Amino acid sequence: MSSPIVELRGVKVTYRTRTGGSVFKHGSVNALRGVDLDISVGQTVGIVGESGCGKSTLAKVIVGLQEPTGGSVLFRGKPVRGRKGRTDFGRAVSVVFQDPATALNPRMTVLNTILDPMQVHGIGTRRSREARAYELLDVVGLPPSAAAVVPAQISGGQRQRVAIARALALDPQIIVADEPTSALDVSVRAQILNLLGKLKRELGLGMVFISHDIQTVRHVSDTICVMNDGVIVERGDAEQVFDDPHDAYTRKLLGAAPSLLHA
Ligand code: ADP
Ligand code: MG
Repeated sequence: MSSPIVELRGVKVTYRTRTGGSVFKHGSVNALRGVDLDISVGQTVGIVGESGCGKSTLAKVIVGLQEPTGGSVLFRGKPVRGRKGRTDFGRAVSVVFQDPATALNPRMTVLNTILDPMQVHGIGTRRSREARAYELLDVVGLPPSAAAVVPAQISGGQRQRVAIARALALDPQIIVADEPTSALDVSVRAQILNLLGKLKRELGLGMVFISHDIQTVRHVSDTICVMNDGVIVERGDAEQVFDDPHDAYTRKLLGAAPSLLHA
């Protein structure tokens, strides 16, 4: 297997919260308490755990939006340093958030939304960027006519396709999808999952797929990490974690899954 693109070593994140009137003791929250994780191209890592266990914090660390307060993040084997380091990292690792309604700028057309990362990174000419944007619309299953609309004019599932097109604009090696289907109608969730699966296969991307729902993660992941209270309590081959969970918390999560109750 190829060497990892991103490596997390003993990553900790402690948020300071406002003291005085705060419900948190000591004015801080330990969102991540020592996480090791390797992310490589061609592999999907599923991250599953209940709300508040630290999944989104982990996503932000992996894409460089949250600085760890302990431990380290390596990009292609080295710490990310300086402006060029951060730019290279930003190109190689991109993110799709839970709610496309808030992740997209409501005043920007779909075309400009997809062009934006390419402009920011100074890639190509105006003409080549536009050609690429239309290509990306096609990749995510949207018609060319979608280019001219703003997010409010399309459905939630179509908006998430736009967010995925934007995430692909810089030809990343890794996509981190944080609950990419949780805000969508049940009827379109499978379509977005299938799209992400197709992209992974066809583009050879590495993917981190985050969900509170272990059944969702199961079908798209090669390996699964189960998180509880800021740590990974179990990790393994997706089949193994499902068929033979070693950790008591994993068994609890599986037991709580409605589709198993109805099986
Ligand atoms: P998840 O995505 O699994 O629901 P998060 O990473 O969003 O978990 O949150 C982990 C913990 O950190 C929670 O207790 C949450 O309340 C807290 N938290 C998240 N973001 C912040 C923040 N910016 N400031 C303070 N606490 C935060
Ligand atoms: Mg979250």
